[in-house]
Order: sequence, then structure tokens, then C-alpha cells
Amino acid sequence: MGADTFSGARRRLVQGAAGFAAAAVGVTHAADTAAVGGSSNNTGAHGGLKDPRAGFPKPPFPEQSQEWPALASRMSPRPDHGEATYRGTGRLTGRKALITGGDSGIGRAVAIAYAREGADVAINYLPQEEPDATEVVRLIESAGRKAVRIPGDIRDEKFCERLVATAIKELGGLDILVNNAGRQQSHESILDISTEQFDWTFRTNVYAMFWITKAAIPRMPPGAAIINTSSVNATDPSENLLDYAATKATITNFTKGLAKQMAGRGIRVNAVAPGPFWTPLQVCGGQTMEKLKAFGGDTPMKRPGQPGEIAPLYVDLAAAEASYVTGQVFGASGGKGIP
Ligand code: NAD
Ligand code: MG
Repeated sequence: MGADTFSGARRRLVQGAAGFAAAAVGVTHAADTAAVGGSSNNTGAHGGLKDPRAGFPKPPFPEQSQEWPALASRMSPRPDHGEATYRGTGRLTGRKALITGGDSGIGRAVAIAYAREGADVAINYLPQEEPDATEVVRLIESAGRKAVRIPGDIRDEKFCERLVATAIKELGGLDILVNNAGRQQSHESILDISTEQFDWTFRTNVYAMFWITKAAIPRMPPGAAIINTSSVNATDPSENLLDYAATKATITNFTKGLAKQMAGRGIRVNAVAPGPFWTPLQVCGGQTMEKLKAFGGDTPMKRPGQPGEIAPLYVDLAAAEASYVTGQVFGASGGKGIP
């Protein structure tokens, strides 16, 4: 059922996109590319055939590190969030979405896709990420949608409540919540993980999801969708990501339990579990330098995913067509691991 729904939706997307692209999107996309300094255009094959092996960055990657939280705009190569390529077909027309971590990486790719599918989008991020967030706001607005920026630290429960209240006020409601912000730091041994670090990871990845979701649910109408971001680490934990992987297992479990509760309210709850994606998370302590240089090379695709390559899953899960899809976890991991 789920698979049929999805492939049907994809077919419609591909079929519908060609004319729309030719008629309406060309100008916007040229502007978007300029706005972000010209990203590669490897993702978003709507309207044509695209070889997943061709044209995507592969390891070895250049050594690089940034202070936490890193900026996408300072990565080499720059991640491809679908800025130049994602084409919408109105699948989320009139919807109202809040995306945490919407400034960069997977959250930015989702923000771009949602706006081009017709949704107004509020993004949360840390104040230090304002340069990345500004790019996203421009991209949402150039898709003709309302962009709301709500910077702040989601480790604080009171801020999480204000975040949801502000998003609802500015958007005029809320019917898509994407819990996507995440904290990931590599530690070789459990002996290197301080209580402060452990707490930081759990507050960002688990507590904030709980607080934001709890604040949002009373205001979400039937038909609304909650999408959490888990990881392949939920089922196959990396030895250097003990605390992070444990939060991702929690997110998967929470998603399935909450979905059962929310079915009675008509709210669907699902998760996406990415494999290796080329995002800022990885260049500010998320990986060892050795792992970063070889990032994604151990998958059958022999490369990491680009954020724009996972955004379609978040679109599918938010869209009304997926009305029987809840309590599930969907993966995109280059052929390795399970969601
Ligand atoms: P990213 O760095 O672009 O996004 C993470 C975002 O989290 C940051 O942009 C930041 O805005 C936000 N954030 C972190 N701490 C915060 C805090 N205290 N308050 C507010 N915002 C905070 O990296 P990404 O890889 O796109 O990460 C998005 C999600 O994807 C995360 O949940 C991550 O665990 C998950 N994920 C990523 C990968 C990967 O390989 N990149 C794999 C599996 C899962
Ligand atoms: Mg960021």
C-alpha cells in the first residue's frame, strides 16, 4: 500500500513536472542559483532521467573543519540542497510547515521543496547560522511563499514553546512539523563522553522533539503530519556515535508510539532515517577527519547523499496522498543499512 502510493505519487510528480518546469520555474531557478552562489545541479531529476552515479561528489573529500555549528556556505564542496533543481507540482499547496534546523543540510532541502510545493515555511536554527538561514529565506520567498525565521536554542523548553507559538501566529496555523535539528559529535570511547555532552545530545535530539511536538499537537488539525529525522544509526549504531545513535533509536521508537496515539486525532507521524549525507553536521565534530575524507564511500553508491536527494521523502510523508502512511520509518542511504 505504502509503496504503491509512493510510486504513483512519483509518477505523477515526474509527469506533471515537465510542463510546469518549462512554463514557470526556469526564471525562479536561475535566480535561486545566483542567490546561493551557484550550487551544483545534481539533484531533482523531475522531468527527465538521471543516473544516480553521475555528477555527484564522491570521496575522497578535502580535509575541513568548522566551529560548531558549521555553515553549509563554507563547506567544500558545497552541499546541494536542490536549490537549482527541485521543481514542485503543488503537492503542499496552502500548507503551513515548521522545520527545525531549516537553515542547512536536510532541513534546508526540505524547506526548499516544501516552498516549491506551495507551503509557507517557518525555520528554526541557531543565531550563529543566520547567514545560512538568510539564503533559505530568500529561496522560500523566491518560490512565492511566506518565510518565517525563528532563531533560538531548542535545548530550552520555554524557547520550544515560544517557537511553536510564533510559527502558528506567523503562519496562521500549523499542519506540518518537521523535527530535524540534531546534535552529533564523534567520541572514540564512552570514557570521552562527559555528562554535559551526553545531556546536550539528548536535549537537542530527544527533549526538544518532545517539547516542540507537545506544544504543536493541540493546535494541529486532522490531516496534519509530523515527520521526525532518525538515522541508520538507530538500528546500526556507529561505535564513535554512542550518545547520538541512542537518541536516534529513541526517535524511531517515539515516532511509532506517537503515531498510534495520534491516529485518533487524524495526525500522521513518521520518520526519515538518512544514511550518510553531505551536511554541516559532519564537518564540526560529527566525524573523525579520516571518516570525513572517506564519507559515504562504504555504501554501494560509493558516495554520500546530497540533501536534495532526500527531500522528496519528506514531501511524500507530508502530502495528503499518504493518508494511510503512519508510524513508519523511511530510509535513503545509498543502498546500505536499514531505516
Ligand atoms: P545540519 O548541520 O545542516 O543540520 C542540523 C541543524 O540542527 C543545524 O543546522 C542547526 O540549526 C540545528 N541545531 C543543532 N543544535 C541546535 C540547537 N541547540 N538549537 C537549535 N537548532 C539546533 O546537518 P544535517 O545532517 O542536515 O542534520 C539534520 C538531521 O539529519 C539531524 O537530525 C541529523 O541527526 C540527521 N541525520 C543526518 C545524517 C547525515 O549524514 N548528515 C545522517 C542521519 C541523520
Ligand atoms: Mg545549520
